[in-house]
Amino acid sequence: MDILTTVNDLREAIRARRTYLKRIGFVPTMGYLHAGHEALMRQAKEECDLVVASIFVNPTQFGPAEDLEKYPRDLARDSELCARAGVDFLFHPDARDMYPLGSSTWVDVDGLTAIACGAARPGHFRGVCTVCAKLFNIVRPDRAYFGEKDFQQLMVIKRMVRDLFMPLTIVGVPTVREPDGLAMSSRNSYLSLSERQAARVVPKTLQRAREMIDAGEHEGAAITAAIEELVAAQPLAKLQYAVIVDPDTLTPMRALTHEARLLVAIFVGATRLIDNCALVPKAVAPPA
Ligand code: AMP
Repeated sequence: MDILTTVNDLREAIRARRTYLKRIGFVPTMGYLHAGHEALMRQAKEECDLVVASIFVNPTQFGPAEDLEKYPRDLARDSELCARAGVDFLFHPDARDMYPLGSSTWVDVDGLTAIACGAARPGHFRGVCTVCAKLFNIVRPDRAYFGEKDFQQLMVIKRMVRDLFMPLTIVGVPTVREPDGLAMSSRNSYLSLSERQAARVVPKTLQRAREMIDAGEHEGAAITAAIEELVAAQPLAKLQYAVIVDPDTLTPMRALTHEARLLVAIFVGATRLIDNCALVPKAVAPPA
């Protein structure tokens, strides 16, 4: 595996291999890698001839009061994981290379970004879309891999690629979880021991929603009320949002007439954790 730190070096390295390759796969990350990232890389390796991964803590997707400075970093450990997962080129640029002096172009996806993380983190998706557009233009992959863990991000990136006729396919990969159900996340490393225990409430909200659906509940408000109650009972946790949306348009759904997506964001101590799951309502029996 080669580690490249400038846009030009990565472009050159890929150019030398592109002509005789059938498919280039790309996995963008912010590093401090775990088994969730590894699943994306392994799937890319299975489906592509060359795998490029990036590690870049993108400053433009962090709000002024967020954790950009303290975001965890460990390039040595990350490179080992990438090499093990079969990554060919690891791209690790610095911010001046990705945003040269005078950069003034941004990519905004409307609509899908109006709720959930888009509403809670103003400017976040603008930063995500802009850096992904830059990375897609540098790597020019055939397929790029994104986790369902960040479901709204996955849908926003798919929409950007569709709207801008970007010549690649976005592949969604299921969420990888810890044995107790907590979705793997680089930010889990912020949790103290007691917060880590308390964080179990996050997957529990999804489980509660699915149980209610299985018991025949069709009202979104009843499910979000139950989630509010569950989180309120955990003293270290604070619900930021729980919304039930159409999985394609991300518009809120009141009645679960068809498959929906539940999106939650919960603070555990100072750490913000997000998760989501599909909600598949029981078919309403046709009248006899
Ligand atoms: P991040 O480094 O957090 O920006 O994540 C980089 C990519 O890995 C994104 O596409 C995430 O959705 C994905 N990812 C993060 N955590 C997980 C997980 N637990 N399971 C699957 N994919 C994940």
